[in-house]
Amino acid sequence: MKVVIIGGDAAGMSAAMEIVRNDKSAQIVVLEKGDIYSYGQCGLPYVINGKVPNTDELIARDVEEFRSKYDIDARIFHEVTAIDTKLQTVSGHDVNSKEPFEFAYDKLLIATGAAPKMPPLENADLQGIHMIKTIPQMNALMEQLPNVKHVTVVGGGYIGLEVVETVRERGLDVRLIHQGSQLMSILDPELSKIIYEEAISHGVEVLLNEETIGFEGKQCVEAIRTKTGTYPTELVIVATGVSPNTQFAKEFAKLGNGALIVNEKMETSIANVYAAGDCASHFNRLKQHDDYLPLGTTANKQGRIAGLNIAGFNYKFSGIVGTSILKFFDLQIGMTGLSNADADKLHALVEAYVMEVNDIASYYPHASKMKLRMLVEQQSRKLVGLQIVGKHGVDKRIDVFATALYNEMTFEELLDLDLAYAPPFSGVWDALMQAPKRYGKKG
Ligand SMILES: Cc1cc2nc3c(=O)[nH]c(=O)nc-3n(C[C@H](O)[C@H](O)[C@H](O)COP(=O)(O)OP(=O)(O)OC[C@H]3O[C@@H](n4cnc5c(N)ncnc54)[C@H](O)[C@@H]3O)c2cc1C
Repeated sequence: MKVVIIGGDAAGMSAAMEIVRNDKSAQIVVLEKGDIYSYGQCGLPYVINGKVPNTDELIARDVEEFRSKYDIDARIFHEVTAIDTKLQTVSGHDVNSKEPFEFAYDKLLIATGAAPKMPPLENADLQGIHMIKTIPQMNALMEQLPNVKHVTVVGGGYIGLEVVETVRERGLDVRLIHQGSQLMSILDPELSKIIYEEAISHGVEVLLNEETIGFEGKQCVEAIRTKTGTYPTELVIVATGVSPNTQFAKEFAKLGNGALIVNEKMETSIANVYAAGDCASHFNRLKQHDDYLPLGTTANKQGRIAGLNIAGFNYKFSGIVGTSILKFFDLQIGMTGLSNADADKLHALVEAYVMEVNDIASYYPHASKMKLRMLVEQQSRKLVGLQIVGKHGVDKRIDVFATALYNEMTFEELLDLDLAYAPPFSGVWDALMQAPKRYGKKG
């Protein structure tokens, strides 16, 4: 069986390794337009503050290892531009030599990820304007950072915030420009306010409600222009979201944003073609429809399932509940499930329980407060969503709650969970139990 995989990172290589393990007869060709395979994209921001010494540390497996150890025909600089789904071929060209190529497949996996969005801004081709999605992009940024003192980050979502933190920790002045009225727009305003205050307390200049329209400078960027004003800066990092790399898949069924719609087996609308990761749809268990939440965890899971199914098994992707977490200076910010806006769109009647709770026993050293906001469906009492901002222990609560969401537990059932307790780790009633204990239905 000839298997072609487009994209050599998380989803693509998770699939490739499952096929290698489970189908010794498969001939696997991977077509990657860059020259780096299997790297930890999520670790890129931490190269800026030196927590990761350099981008080489992020590479999990070298291309050569895939070739020599696993007998995968791992190509580099091979950019796919077309798929002929009738003849079952993919074609494209070598990025450097422009030499064309064509490969036939019995099974094809599209794992091309997503590209960072550069809004249509004036003078976006000036030097010193960066996006961070790949190792070469991060290396280019790291070459320039030693020469500047002031950086502007455009976009107050999770990547923007991670970059703001790491640039500031490098000792540079940072301005964050965000188009919306609050950072991390998915969060409830009360929780988002804590993030804003954290940024200010770490000396970040935050401009909200400012729409960036372009840049000024001769060769290098010297200022950024918004609808409100012009602000001098020496380097800009744009982090305004991503869109799926699926331009070459014209006849495929797609979501509104271009992500390839896949079923639970990771099959697309075209026979023998699978898709996984940031270029594919992600079934949301709570919304009960396809969603788009491009995350590394999901890319690895979907890639594994696509690989196992290509190898002849019958695995199913159970769907996401929308779990994510990030660190922002001294804060941990976690969320899972639906936000209020999601619930409104689904016309779900929900109740919100907002509380400030201790992360560990209040008398134990370094106990701190975390603010949590729990959403519960009014009628069924089923858990719907959780957002938490705190200093410690957010990860544990978000993961417990995500497990509860997966198992469709109710608000009151949180009290039945047998969670670990000792004073350095939680209160005798865990942070997650405080709301149902106080507000849960009796009897
Ligand atoms: C800065 C940053 C921080 C992140 N932090 C987190 C985090 O903390 N937690 C989390 O869960 N997720 C995080 N993510 C998201 C996570 O990295 C992605 O969800 C994950 O890498 C997606 O994997 P993928 O294999 O689908 O796509 P990618 O990793 O993007 O890989 C796709 C590959 O396909 C190649 N390709 C694209 N088009 C073509 C073509 N036409 N021909 C040939 N090759 C092609 C690309 O070169 C690329 O190598 C972060 C992302 C970024 C950028």
